[in-house]
Amino acid sequence: MKCQGCGGSAVIKMRQHKLALCADCFPDWLRRRVQHTIERYGMFGPADKVLVAVSGGKDSLALWDMLAALDYQSEGVYIDLGIPHGDYSAQSRGRALAFAQARGLTLHVVDLVATYGASVPEKARALRGRSACSLCGMVKRHEMNRVARESDCTVLATGHNLDDEAATLFGNTLRWQTGYLARQAPVLPASSDGFMRKVKPLCRVAERESAAYALLQGIDYVRDECPFSERATSLVYKRLLNDLESRSPAAKQSFYLEFLKARDRGAVQFQEVERPPMTSCEQCGQPTTAGGLCAFCRLWEV
Ligand code: AMP
Ligand code: ZN
Repeated sequence: MKCQGCGGSAVIKMRQHKLALCADCFPDWLRRRVQHTIERYGMFGPADKVLVAVSGGKDSLALWDMLAALDYQSEGVYIDLGIPHGDYSAQSRGRALAFAQARGLTLHVVDLVATYGASVPEKARALRGRSACSLCGMVKRHEMNRVARESDCTVLATGHNLDDEAATLFGNTLRWQTGYLARQAPVLPASSDGFMRKVKPLCRVAERESAAYALLQGIDYVRDECPFSERATSLVYKRLLNDLESRSPAAKQSFYLEFLKARDRGAVQFQEVERPPMTSCEQCGQPTTAGGLCAFCRLWEV
């Protein structure tokens, strides 16, 4: 198999792009594709400082590597949720720190236990009935937004890839969750009440491509899924979509990208659920619909 960039020996064949590339041409090509995504959706520019949310996994570390190589200003944030299982949090934190150190990049580490006094699993146990995953999502959203504001970053980037986005779209479509379908986007604009702009620069990058990138760049990442992961359903959707992809290359990207295009030109319309009015949390100052304390601050009251 020949590289279609330089004629050398290809290491990856991407049927959906009808393209095979070698170990030198592929990372360049993927970075250009990400750059194009950033520009196409107006995610950010050279004047912005991007806060990359890194989990220690391949997608977010590959994203940070690309943004640094593309000369964007960036810092990272890792949120240590205190998940003890097989040292999951310690391992992913270590990978994120080693990555940042090796490249001279700034990583903000939020240690939930040290700062607030309890881990996500402990809090979930204390609030019987509350799933660790929904708690974890709320904590991550709050802390990412806080760190972004405090570190003068102008935009928050996550490592969600094409497979993640296509699986989410599939789930939302299966149940016709029109409110979610209205909001699922590569860019969520900042809100005047204090939510940072959120972007997903890898939304056109297949999981297999980001894994290949991380491998070729020598990025040491955590391979395990979070032990609490309730993503069984999303994994089923991913498997279904991969099956479809193997019969019909580019099915995944056309499912997702054609949806975005159709919605952008008004061919499909979903009514956004009106957000209840926001106030500032009395303790942390972040936006909340709860009035008084936000959900995050209330968590530490009990
Ligand atoms: P996940 O929901 O685990 O698929 O993660 C989606 C994205 O959220 C990742 O690509 C990261 O950008 C971000 N993320 C997940 N976990 C963490 C964490 N513990 N700290 C910071 N960012 C995270
Ligand atoms: Zn608060």
